[in-house]
Amino acid sequence: MADQKNFLVLENFIAGKFVPCTDYIDSYDPSTGEVYCRVPDSSSQEINAAVTAAKGAFPSWSSKSPQERSQILNKLADLLESHLEEFAQAESKDQGKTITFARTVDIPRSVYNFRFFASSILHHTTECTQMDLLGCMHYTVRTPVGVAGLISPWNLPLYLLTWKIAPAIAAGNTVVAKPSELTSVTAWMMCKLLAEAGVPAGVINIVFGRGQQAGEALVAHADVPLISFTGSTVTAQRIIERSAVQCKRLSLELGGKNPAIIFDDADLLECIPCTVRSSFANQGEICLSTSRIYVQRTIYDDFLKKFVEATKKWKLGAPSDPTASMGALISKEHMEKVKKYVKKAQAEGATIVCGEGKDPLDMPHKNRNGYFMLPTIITGIKDQSCCMQEEIFGPVICVVPFDTEDEVVERANGVKYGLAATIWSKDVGRVHRVAKRLQSGLVWTNCWLIRELNLPFGGMKASGLGREGAKDSYEFFTEVKTVTIKH
Ligand code: NAD
Repeated sequence: MADQKNFLVLENFIAGKFVPCTDYIDSYDPSTGEVYCRVPDSSSQEINAAVTAAKGAFPSWSSKSPQERSQILNKLADLLESHLEEFAQAESKDQGKTITFARTVDIPRSVYNFRFFASSILHHTTECTQMDLLGCMHYTVRTPVGVAGLISPWNLPLYLLTWKIAPAIAAGNTVVAKPSELTSVTAWMMCKLLAEAGVPAGVINIVFGRGQQAGEALVAHADVPLISFTGSTVTAQRIIERSAVQCKRLSLELGGKNPAIIFDDADLLECIPCTVRSSFANQGEICLSTSRIYVQRTIYDDFLKKFVEATKKWKLGAPSDPTASMGALISKEHMEKVKKYVKKAQAEGATIVCGEGKDPLDMPHKNRNGYFMLPTIITGIKDQSCCMQEEIFGPVICVVPFDTEDEVVERANGVKYGLAATIWSKDVGRVHRVAKRLQSGLVWTNCWLIRELNLPFGGMKASGLGREGAKDSYEFFTEVKTVTIKH
């Protein structure tokens, strides 16, 4: 364990000031397994203080024009961008993801989240309709809701937190945000930029701590009418229960068990590297990661051979290694849970083609206690197996054959989740048919993870409630009112 004095110690950010906490949680460096940081273990006391600050800042912030708020969001984006490398290094160390992923995905997208909503807030219109016979004109107005409670997970820490903060404050709300206790560092770093960006005290408050304590206090707070949550389905169920008493407005972005369907006319030259990426990027710790691959039987052997070859080249390494494709998993507990799925599959008679328990781990000495695991491919597994039904959220992929279009649609839909699906085929008619029938909030064809932020993002079934995006987030973070005028 590192010397106590060398720990990075985070503080809550409330009413424009850093505030120490009485209790702290150890935060581990996933690449070494050592404690390197201490995160406030906040309670309802800190949440109450943050909500009071947010409530106090609301009247002034909500009465600013969208143009004024937009300028501040753009300034924050510029500041974040000017510190991109610093944030990328911190995100990679805190989360275990590769420095390349943090540099090219997490932090640029966090910057873009502010720029995107700084722009989109300027372009909303409301509705108006006339009723000549009765001499009436009806129109809608939108107003910010108040104090928004924002709760985010550990897999894309700053990326997903800013995806909530940006639309919330652009629309005129003030926020109390609680990032994951496992990955709090970049949110804390961002707080240092807020004053310079011109964000008034109390508009963005960040309280760190555990979900069961700080998170629940935020969800249950009477002055927080709206909760935007990204995380697991189990936690979302708890949030629904806790917020039911006050009928809170909820946006829930949850887990997935995302299928890739590969038809026999797929362009394997494009499909294989893309599917390796969709399965193993960010250690498979993306809600949109592919976790079941259905391959048409006529090309199954060819696909599997090439897919295994490409996966073996997906380099596991220390997060700081710029040549690594994959870094460490978030925690020891999570790594053990992911490995347990592989063991269960083996016990059920499935084949572990490569990866966990099959190939040797070769990590540098300093990383020997880190949470590393090789990309793992499982075949010969039944659709009913827990590996094919439950979200594993790690570098494990199941590959199975199918025969017909009808069959694969039914099997792809045969899980409780419905977040993202991928189809590989050159037949446009088939793509349309299958995309329409899949129970999935997002369907990518011949690609993966190409996002248009204007369009709705979110899941069906146990994958979520509501959608995020330019219009959807604006609607979520505002109240609509219909006004009727008779002349
Ligand atoms: P989690 O549900 O354990 O935690 C998410 C957040 O909720 C954390 O900040 C946590 O502290 C907080 N929390 C936990 N219990 C709480 C409670 N009782 N009340 C209030 N807050 C509570 O999820 P995780 O393990 O951090 O993240 C992984 C999950 O997130 C996966 O299921 C993944 O699919 C999902 N996810 C979904 C999306 C999406 O957009 N659909 C994106 C990323 C991750």
